[in-house]
Amino acid sequence: MKVAVIGAGLVGLASAHALADEGHEVVVIDREGPAAGASRGNAGWIAHTDIDPVATPDMLRRVPGYLLDPLGPLAIRARYLLPVLPWLTRLILASRPEQLKRSVEAVVSISRLAMPAWDALSASLGMGAMIHRRGGIFAYDDARNLATARLKFARQRGFGMNVEEIDGRALRQLEPSLSDAVIGAAYYPDAAHVTDPRVVTEALFAAARSRGIWFERAAVTSITAGPPVSVVCEGREPVVADAVVLAAGAWSKPLAAALGDNIPLETERGYNVSFPGVATITRPVAFDGQGFVVTPLDTGLRVGGAVELAGLKLPPNHARTRALHAKASRMLRDVPAFETGQVWMGHRPSIPDSLPVIGLAKTSARVVYAFGHGHYGLTHSAATGRIVADLLAERTPPIDLAPFSPQRF
Ligand SMILES: Cc1cc2nc3c(=O)[nH]c(=O)nc-3n(C[C@H](O)[C@H](O)[C@H](O)COP(=O)(O)OP(=O)(O)OC[C@H]3O[C@@H](n4cnc5c(N)ncnc54)[C@H](O)[C@@H]3O)c2cc1C
Repeated sequence: MKVAVIGAGLVGLASAHALADEGHEVVVIDREGPAAGASRGNAGWIAHTDIDPVATPDMLRRVPGYLLDPLGPLAIRARYLLPVLPWLTRLILASRPEQLKRSVEAVVSISRLAMPAWDALSASLGMGAMIHRRGGIFAYDDARNLATARLKFARQRGFGMNVEEIDGRALRQLEPSLSDAVIGAAYYPDAAHVTDPRVVTEALFAAARSRGIWFERAAVTSITAGPPVSVVCEGREPVVADAVVLAAGAWSKPLAAALGDNIPLETERGYNVSFPGVATITRPVAFDGQGFVVTPLDTGLRVGGAVELAGLKLPPNHARTRALHAKASRMLRDVPAFETGQVWMGHRPSIPDSLPVIGLAKTSARVVYAFGHGHYGLTHSAATGRIVADLLAERTPPIDLAPFSPQRF
């Protein structure tokens, strides 16, 4: 088949490779180029040991406190409160015990595919050295948060994950730059991170080009369900194909809506600041309850995180990035001055139940959706690509796709 993939982020490019592996002729369409969206500047974790959706009862209990602090881990821009209310309502409903259990099980099911899928993809493209396996750390500066987190550690172990709880002293032996403010941590020996998400995305793109995957720079305005399927673009002839994969990240909603699928996709904006050439830690560290992570990329130290609900159009507010930097400086020694770093804001494509949308459009078995990966799009991209290829080959995917269905809402 000729397959058009919309979006040259991690999900679109992983899907393009999986489709090329099956012998399809693939064209990737992006209005900018590779790594223009969230795939460019994320924190770089292949976080296959994270199991909790965004909306847990514990998180919802913390929300009022978060919202009181305008530069805290969660903010809603006043102008965006009304537009985001329906999504927020769904988010709260997703924290009900039954739904939460379903979401956790679904996250675990795709996470089990994540590392093997990345291993296979990176090995096939000669990119194995772009994945570091030094484990990852969730650190705590508050005994109460740590006590609550122990319930999560137990659930993770229940799913067969390796979690080692360590005290502050043992932690500082692993990572001497962590300050005395950190009192304990969970160490995940199987966690991994990439050299740099932008470098990885661009390498996937370069590998795609060199194996004959086409690229078109064009802004897609709609998809016409076929057959053949037609991808309508601004200022140029439509791209006609046998099948289409919609992987336009946080921008996918109107394209799916035009095909009859009304998907509650929002963006959780995230911020970071990176310090080229700086290496203070050897493995990524998340500060649970504080809403930020630090990652030792090969290109330098990255400090980032936070969630801001403000849609796709409002300008960034880098006072938030500065606040993340201030918090990181309390937890980590030798963080360089904020002014010496490079700031970035990205749009996580987020669904209220924290599960991506992977499945066929309501009106066409030749349009596959692959978007909404929220906080874990790097982690789940390679696995998503394999599932997309299964769907177009009419093969049964290795996991139950019902929790990821575009028609589940
Ligand atoms: C601060 C931050 C930290 C994160 N950390 C991690 C992490 O450590 N681990 C992890 O797994 N995930 C992380 N994520 C999430 C991850 O970055 C995203 O889930 C993932 O990048 C989404 O990939 P994507 O390919 O779906 O979308 P994107 O990378 O956003 O790509 C979408 C592409 O579609 C193109 N596009 C959009 N609309 C159109 C159109 N109409 N026509 C043509 N092209 C179009 C865009 O130009 C873009 O290139 C983080 C996100 C943020 C913001």
